[in-house]
Amino acid sequence: MRLKAKRVFVTAAGQGIGRAIAEAAIREGAQVVATDINATLLDGLECETYQLDATDKGAVGDKVGSADPEVLINCAGVVHTDTVQQVTDETLDFAFNVNVRSMIYTIQAAVPGMLERGAGSIINMASMASSSKGFPNRCSYGLTKGAVIGLTKAVAADYMTTGIRCNCISPGTVDSPSLHERLRATGDYEKAMAAFIARQPMGRLGTVEEIAHLAIYLASDESKYMTGQEVRIDGGTSA
Ligand code: NAD
Repeated sequence: MRLKAKRVFVTAAGQGIGRAIAEAAIREGAQVVATDINATLLDGLECETYQLDATDKGAVGDKVGSADPEVLINCAGVVHTDTVQQVTDETLDFAFNVNVRSMIYTIQAAVPGMLERGAGSIINMASMASSSKGFPNRCSYGLTKGAVIGLTKAVAADYMTTGIRCNCISPGTVDSPSLHERLRATGDYEKAMAAFIARQPMGRLGTVEEIAHLAIYLASDESKYMTGQEVRIDGGTSA
């Protein structure tokens, strides 16, 4: 029970990596508050759950502030398909709101309680897109995920001596519901999936549980000498 009685707050916990982390934290004994913009996706999670749009600054302040988490896990993120020539102010704003500003809002709301206790672990979901390498048609996505790494290091530096740690995870291609949606959107799911797997260095996708194991380590005191790190779990993409 590595998170026994720890209060853990998770955004985008309805499906994919966020849900796997919420489930793993529950198994590790944490008191989890699981949130998602889509409340129905939270069904079946055996913990406190709330509908929460992570880009809604006021609502985030209320929910995170009252949960007063010891561990904050920022999973909200969306994948955008664009090249630099296709980026518009509107798509860029949307990408920054979901992928970056949401994390700033949750961190701002969680830090006061963490400072009071002199302890806290913040974990942000970045991506191999930007850290390991660039990918075609992932301009807004890569640049916002790059910003997540910058945010992580800035938060780590600001609170270095306070007991608050901040790290981020850069997953490779992980089997998640939104990945299947993107493959279906190509019009030929089977072909797109085969091409995807062929591009993976290990010949397979990652699993959400594999990412959750790392998140639990970063959340727990086992990693208490670690802060400001971008940890790649990308199936060898950057090897
Ligand atoms: P997913 O894309 O399948 O699900 C995303 C979840 O986020 C959904 O439950 C959705 O309702 C929720 N969500 C969307 N907008 C929200 C908002 N504004 N507020 C709150 N919740 C919101 O999940 P995933 O693929 O596991 O991705 C989770 C995180 O991991 C994202 O930040 C993503 O960028 C990152 N990531 C995923 C992969 C991958 O291959 N799956 C790889 C690298 C990074």
